[in-house]
Amino acid sequence: MADSIIYHIDVNSAFLSWSAKKYLEEQPEKPDIRTICAVIGGDKQKRHGIVLAKSTSAKKYGIKTGEPLVRASEKCPNLQVFPPDFNYYVKQSNAFITLLKEVAPSVEQYSIDEAFCDMTGTRSLYGDPVDFANTLRERIYKELGFTVNIGVSVNKLLAKMASEFEKPNRTHTLFPEEISQKMWPLPVSELFFVGRSTEKKLHTLGIHTIGELANCNPSLLTSHFRKHGETIWNYANGRDLDFSASHDTANKGYSNETTLHTDVTDAATAKMILLSLAEMVGARIRADKAYISVVSVNLVTCDFERYSHQKSLYSATNITEEIYKTACELFEQMWKHEPIRLIGIATSKATYEQSYQYDMFQSTNYEKLSKLNSALDSIRDKYGSDAIRRACFLEDSNKLSKGMSLAKFDAKQKRTVDGNS
Ligand SMILES: [Mg+2]
Repeated sequence: MADSIIYHIDVNSAFLSWSAKKYLEEQPEKPDIRTICAVIGGDKQKRHGIVLAKSTSAKKYGIKTGEPLVRASEKCPNLQVFPPDFNYYVKQSNAFITLLKEVAPSVEQYSIDEAFCDMTGTRSLYGDPVDFANTLRERIYKELGFTVNIGVSVNKLLAKMASEFEKPNRTHTLFPEEISQKMWPLPVSELFFVGRSTEKKLHTLGIHTIGELANCNPSLLTSHFRKHGETIWNYANGRDLDFSASHDTANKGYSNETTLHTDVTDAATAKMILLSLAEMVGARIRADKAYISVVSVNLVTCDFERYSHQKSLYSATNITEEIYKTACELFEQMWKHEPIRLIGIATSKATYEQSYQYDMFQSTNYEKLSKLNSALDSIRDKYGSDAIRRACFLEDSNKLSKGMSLAKFDAKQKRTVDGNS
């Protein structure tokens, strides 16, 4: 589309900026940690933490995200290490996305600190897209207290590449006519989706810059990298192939599955296993403070046939009961009464954004369920996973004729749960 306008908005050193904001709120007399040599790092006491985010001056010492704190401290003797506060970060992230939703017709959260805004058609409302990006950037800083980079272009790929240019607190454009001048001179490693091993292989093929990649014969790339070769060639030429579909963070999911020692032949047993799986998956999602919006059920029959059905939820959730309810629905749709040897629940489209859209006809009390789920999680954390059992397990365990008793099922499941993606 010729007239598309996409922003990619990226919080500068998100964890460090957000912690800086928190410390300024708590102790306004202390220096802003963005202005000193500082990092956000894992557990200082445990000594094997890593750098999660760094200030601009820490970057000048060559400190890199992901490197051990010990090594970072060697590079900068005055380095100050601050612990992360993920609860606070999630709040900041939510505030960031909420503000974007106030101004953009369509917002796609890409990670905890990044989002795409489709600004197509807003010129009559906001004027020049680049001027408005600057206005928005200032507004975010004024209202939320942290800086962002905004990349402006016609598709997500180019907008994301643009937001990576000089940081912090900048707006950059990367329109198609600017690709050869702004993007092609960069090393291939800067291209989205080119990892360390792809970079190495490209070097052996004599390809060092994004421009060299863009102008090489794509069949050379497909012969070495198959489909991935075609993808990066298109990216190098500024062509967007809905790349969010293959992005890990945006597509992050949680799944668990159980291989059964005896085939399950009745729906009641299958549903209890689904409840147990939903509990595990739900707890993991909540531990990450995430929400998922797609649930799927996988079944493997005694003949090793695999079925999978999935459903998109009306709104993202992390509530066990909702995952369980959806899984049961799917199970009923797909099960053809053949004996089952494996049952799994997979969830996907994880976000860090809570987006309950209250449905008028929905009888579920979300807040109550949400509190109940957190309470269960903390009791299980303290006293072990057997401390609390769902009442239906207790009631139904006597009724199981073909199935196994709950205690046996639990014991088996512990040995056989293997899916932990
Ligand atoms: Mg960022």
